[in-house]
Amino acid sequence: MSKKSSVYVCQNCGWSALRWVGQCQGCNSWNTLVEEMSEVSKTGKEIKSSEDISDFTVSLSQVDALESSKARLSTFIDEFDRVLGGEEPNRGMVNGAVMLIGGEPGIGKSTLLTQVVVSMLANSKNRDISNNKIAYVCGEENPAQIALRINRLKENNYNQDNMVFISSTNVDSIAKAIKKIKPVVVVVDSIQTLTTFDLAGSAGSVGQVRECAERLTTLAKSLNIPIFLVGHVTKEGTISGPKVLEHIVDSVLELSGDRTGDLRILRAVKNRFGATDEVGVFRMRDFGFESVSNPSEIFLEHSDVGVPGSATVCVMEGTRPLLIEIQGLVVSSQLAMPRRVGRGIMLSRIQVLAAVLEKHCKLPLSNNDIFASVAGGFSVKEPALDLGLAVAITSSLVNKSIKEKTVFIGEIGLLGEIRSVNLLDRRIKEAKRLGFNKVISKKTHSSIKDVLKELGLLK
Ligand SMILES: [Zn+2]
Repeated sequence: MSKKSSVYVCQNCGWSALRWVGQCQGCNSWNTLVEEMSEVSKTGKEIKSSEDISDFTVSLSQVDALESSKARLSTFIDEFDRVLGGEEPNRGMVNGAVMLIGGEPGIGKSTLLTQVVVSMLANSKNRDISNNKIAYVCGEENPAQIALRINRLKENNYNQDNMVFISSTNVDSIAKAIKKIKPVVVVVDSIQTLTTFDLAGSAGSVGQVRECAERLTTLAKSLNIPIFLVGHVTKEGTISGPKVLEHIVDSVLELSGDRTGDLRILRAVKNRFGATDEVGVFRMRDFGFESVSNPSEIFLEHSDVGVPGSATVCVMEGTRPLLIEIQGLVVSSQLAMPRRVGRGIMLSRIQVLAAVLEKHCKLPLSNNDIFASVAGGFSVKEPALDLGLAVAITSSLVNKSIKEKTVFIGEIGLLGEIRSVNLLDRRIKEAKRLGFNKVISKKTHSSIKDVLKELGLLK
C-alpha cells in the first residue's frame, strides 16, 4: 500500500493535511498533527472484507450463554488477579480484553509479565483448554534475553513448546501469527516498538502507537484472546505513551514504586471489568517479584516508631486496610515563603493541615519548612491519613515522639474537628491484629487539639 493511505489530523480541531506541518492551519496551534489512516483507505478496507454477520450479531437468548462463558482467566498470581478484577474465586482477566501495563522504564513491567506468563504456563494443567500456548511479542528484547529471565524464575514444570516468541515489530505480521497460533494470552512488549507500513511515522510516534493498538484491540475482540500491552511512560509527560492509549484499551494498569526500594505496587487506573481501587503489592527479589499478601507488615517493618516525626496511619487500598508510616520533618525556614514538600502525599493536604494546626493549636508553622512523606514509596490520597499527618508534623515540630504503639485514623476538618472515615471498624481490627493497642479516631477524640494534648505534644 502506498504511503498516501495516511493523513495528518489536528487533534485540536480536526484539520487535516497530507504532510506533517508544525503548525495547524485550522486553529494555529503547534505540534497537534498526528498521523492517522485516511478515511478513504478505511472504507476501502471495509468493502473488501467479507465478514460473516454472525460474528457481531447476537440474539437475547444467546446472551445468557455468553455471560456464563465469561469465566475469567487466572494468572495464578494472587496479587495480580486482585488488580485484574472479578469476585473470588473467579478472578483474573476477561477473554478479549486489552490491558495496558504502564510505568517508568526499568520499574519491572517486563519482569512482572514474564512471571505472569510462566505462572500461567505452569498452572495450565489446572485448566480444561486444549491449547495452552502463550505468545510473547518481543519488540524490546530478543527471545534469548527473555529466556534468560524465565530461567531465573526456576520454574520448569511446564511444556516449553507452549511458550512462543514472536520476533517482529510489524503489527500486521504479528496479527497474522496470532491468528495462526491462537494462544490463550498474548503479551506485547512493548507497544511503542510496533509499526504498520500503512503509516509513514516512526515507531513510538502517536499515530503509530494508536493505530497499532487499535489493530491489536480489534484482533483481541475478534479472536476473544486477552492481550497485554507494555507501555513506557516517558519522563516528558507520556507524549507517545499510555495517555494516547487509555481510550482504546479496556484496562490500564500502572506499576509504580520507589526504584531504589524493593516494593512495587500494581494499580488499575482504568478497568472496564473490575474495580479501580484494588492494588497488588510485590517485592523485588533476585529471581523476580514475590507477592506480598500482607503489605502492612512490610510497610511497618522498617518504620521508625518512637522517633519524633513518625506516626502510623491506616488507609484503605480497595478492600484491604493498610497500615503505613507517615513521616514529618519541620525545620525553621530561611525563606520568605516557607516550603511545603510532600512525597506520596498531596501538597494541598499539607497546606490545609498546617493552617489548621496554626490556627486551632497555635503552632508556629508559618515560619517553618514542612516536609512530609509516606514511607516505602507508597502514595496515599485518602483523607483518613490527615490525623496521622498532623500528629507527625507536630511531633517533629516539638521534637517529641509518640511513646505507645498508636494508629491514627481520621480526616481533619477546617475547624480542627476529627471526622469519621468509612470502614472504620475494619481499620481498627487490622491495627489491633498487627499489635497496635491504641487507636485514635473520631470514636475516641473529637478534635486534633485533644489528641495532641493527650499525646503530650501540646500544652
Ligand atoms: Zn487545529
